[in-house]
Amino acid sequence: MTENLNPFAIAQAQLDKAAEILQLDPSMHAFLREPMREFHFTIPVRMDDGTTQVFKGYRVQYNDARGPNKGGLRFHWEETIDTVRALAAWMTWKTAVVDIPLGGGKGGVVCDPRNFTDSELERLSRGYMRAVASHVGLFQDVPAPDVYTHPRIMAWMMDEYETITSKREPGVITGKPLELGGSAGRGDATARGGIYTVREAAKALDINVEGATAAIQGYGNAGTFAHLLAEEILGLKIVAVSDSRGGIYNPQGLKAKETMQLKAETGSVTNAQGVDQITNEELLELDVDVLFPSALENVITSRNAANIKANMIAELANGPTTPNADDVLHANNVYVIPDFLCNAGGVTVSYFEMVQNAYQYYWPEEMVHERLDQKMTKAYWDVHQMAAQKKVNNRVAAYLVAVDRVAQAVQLRGWV
Ligand code: GLU
Repeated sequence: MTENLNPFAIAQAQLDKAAEILQLDPSMHAFLREPMREFHFTIPVRMDDGTTQVFKGYRVQYNDARGPNKGGLRFHWEETIDTVRALAAWMTWKTAVVDIPLGGGKGGVVCDPRNFTDSELERLSRGYMRAVASHVGLFQDVPAPDVYTHPRIMAWMMDEYETITSKREPGVITGKPLELGGSAGRGDATARGGIYTVREAAKALDINVEGATAAIQGYGNAGTFAHLLAEEILGLKIVAVSDSRGGIYNPQGLKAKETMQLKAETGSVTNAQGVDQITNEELLELDVDVLFPSALENVITSRNAANIKANMIAELANGPTTPNADDVLHANNVYVIPDFLCNAGGVTVSYFEMVQNAYQYYWPEEMVHERLDQKMTKAYWDVHQMAAQKKVNNRVAAYLVAVDRVAQAVQLRGWV
């Protein structure tokens, strides 16, 4: 039987498993299986050549029982409504597992931003914000960066929103440039949070990761900073990295600063000299201690799970591992730090950004790091304890912690 790779079907199947263990009330389970609201719209964009192109846009508000919806916005040619639904569901569990007072949402536009000029990108970003303006806000729904969206896009969107509403409300969106109310420490927050969970996992498993080897699949925001911080904080030796064009391998180790510079200057890590060229698939199967999937969904599936040689997988991407692959990894004793725990550092610092925007007073970077560390460390041990208590893998344990918190909020509100 071929594996179902629809991300929303996967998100629902993961929830179903947790609902069974929690013996969740059937009405509550039915409610948590679906998004509360979703918006579908078209965005006409005047291109530089004078033609108009029409893009499909989405915003899914999955669940706001614990607070305003929160989650990024992705510009990607393979975006589908089911991808956005899955990512919005995972945001709901993510904000719950780190226990920040927010719900879950996600947005997407089906487009290939790699072909856009800056002015086309600006018009698309402003068009997106016009379409969702009456449904977002500091107390309603707060977008942020995700794949192929960056701080400049957040700045254009904030400006469009503030122009429409005739007020200053920087907390309508996070991941902004520092000059416009962004938070110190937001840039590397996703990777930093993930590195903290690896540090805690090493304590829990009583292993020393200093000098251990690692491979990073994906070299966007999460992957690049994971490279830098894995070296800096954990002393890991990164032997392989990859981007959408392919990967590079050097058993002596790849230095973060050099590789980041090469990527910035030439557009791809594959332009490195004196290293072996490998594919993304080969990178995932390397014999390393820690593997960081840091790009997109469905890269560890029933096709390659049995070939994974890493002892630990720290999922900086959302949804990199399918349920079938999870079963194989668990049987093979691979220790997985699941996505919505491992990559929750981004939204945690986004929450700090909202708090700072609300009182217009800004924290130094060290304070952000310290508070992020507290949140990630607590979340890691909550999940670790749940896994030990219920004798389940970390992903199921993370669901048990998060779903229980969301269900309690839904019940206290009297919705179900
Ligand atoms: N896109 C990031 C994520 O998937 C960050 C979301 C946010 O900061 O709201 O967690």
